[in-house]
Amino acid sequence: MKQVHVDVAVIGGGPAGLAASLAARKEGAERVLIIERNTELGGILQQCIHHGFGLHRFKEELTGPEYAQRFIDFIKETDIEVMLETMVLEVTPERKIYAVNSESGMLEIHAKSIVLAMGCRERTRGALRIPGGRPAGVYSAGTAQRYVNIDGYVPGKKAVILGSGDIGLIMARRFTLEGAKVEAVVEVLPYAAGLTRNVVQCLEDYDIPLYLQSTVIEIHGNKRIEAVTIAQVDEKWNPIPGTERKIECDTLLLSVGLVPENELSSQAGVAIDPITNGPLVDDAMMTNLPGIFACGNVLHVHDLVDNVSKESERAGMYAGRYALGKSSEKARRIKVQAGENIRYVVPHEVSSEEPVEFFMRVQRPQDDVALDVGGLRRIRKTSVRPSEMLDVKITPEQLQSLEGDTLVIQIVEQ
Ligand SMILES: Cc1cc2nc3c(=O)[nH]c(=O)nc-3n(C[C@H](O)[C@H](O)[C@H](O)COP(=O)(O)OP(=O)(O)OC[C@H]3O[C@@H](n4cnc5c(N)ncnc54)[C@H](O)[C@@H]3O)c2cc1C
Repeated sequence: MKQVHVDVAVIGGGPAGLAASLAARKEGAERVLIIERNTELGGILQQCIHHGFGLHRFKEELTGPEYAQRFIDFIKETDIEVMLETMVLEVTPERKIYAVNSESGMLEIHAKSIVLAMGCRERTRGALRIPGGRPAGVYSAGTAQRYVNIDGYVPGKKAVILGSGDIGLIMARRFTLEGAKVEAVVEVLPYAAGLTRNVVQCLEDYDIPLYLQSTVIEIHGNKRIEAVTIAQVDEKWNPIPGTERKIECDTLLLSVGLVPENELSSQAGVAIDPITNGPLVDDAMMTNLPGIFACGNVLHVHDLVDNVSKESERAGMYAGRYALGKSSEKARRIKVQAGENIRYVVPHEVSSEEPVEFFMRVQRPQDDVALDVGGLRRIRKTSVRPSEMLDVKITPEQLQSLEGDTLVIQIVEQ
């Protein structure tokens, strides 16, 4: 088996992996390697041809491929090595990586530190258990996005979209622009699951109806989907009898959530947060396994790529330091706890020696509230939504003034 020795190995060449590898190299790690299973770098961004990327990072509205290309160009200016069409099969706690490609066959990669940046995958029909047949024409929204934007095929002419996540909203607009009719977007929650800007720009601007507190209860069709039955649901998501409505369609797109891609992490023994489905990390973005770091959608699902880049630079910087033997034991560990109306917070544990940026999501929408960070900082918010990730920076001085070893982050009345 071919042996490879590197300082930092980054698994995944999406925006998270690109930003992490650049930061690790900048920190002084000499041999940095990106391992990517796809034929090109850029990750999911390559199929996101709509604009809306990079507003924070570059103060410009870029498309996904344009945003990715900026980072790919930065990589090209360095000596960071890239292995494309190489699939990582296993990671060990001792930081050995087993990967395979058609050129070298099996590879054993020894890394001083590893960054997990494998992104996430879409939840499928199987996870929803929708009754009905198994006809063609039922796709996850991201699969349809790939067909349209990369392969040049529009999979149908009349679509219903189940779930109002961002990919579903983006695809409602894309189908419309490609000449197909989107009959409805159906959402089980009482509010849209995607970003407000996407609801406005992708549905309202194109007069596409959004049915809230509703779901698809049956798929009709044998060879090809012919219709779906939708119904309103009660607060326990049970269909309300008498509210059923049949909508003819030849395509059903599912936009019902993303799941961090953590099979490699779990197999290696990385502890996983049951809420985010991503690794538990400290303020260096390090998992419970020393020298193994995580960032991007594999850690928790992001709505803005700019935040992915920011978080991943932190992971890469610390992975670089670890590889150089520069990481130090922190004297004080503070546990971070999600309080009132906070679903989760990343990182899960911090020291009081470095500035830290917390990323979090709320459980339910609220207006005119404040985000309270353990009494150390309070930020007024005109509205908070589960779809819109919140972030807040805290200084070491603020953390040092915390009494006790638990920092509770919560939403409070203004
Ligand atoms: C459809 C869609 C639309 C979006 N629209 C927007 C938008 O309009 N604006 C915005 O700011 N953000 C948007 N986002 C969010 C943003 O694009 C993502 O948050 C970001 O791409 C996540 O980056 P990542 O590097 O963590 O994951 P990814 O981009 O998914 O990259 C992960 C990479 O890891 C590789 N990989 C996985 N497993 C292995 C393995 N075992 N071996 C080797 N390689 C592996 C994959 O091939 C992939 O290239 C969108 C996301 C999606 C999915």
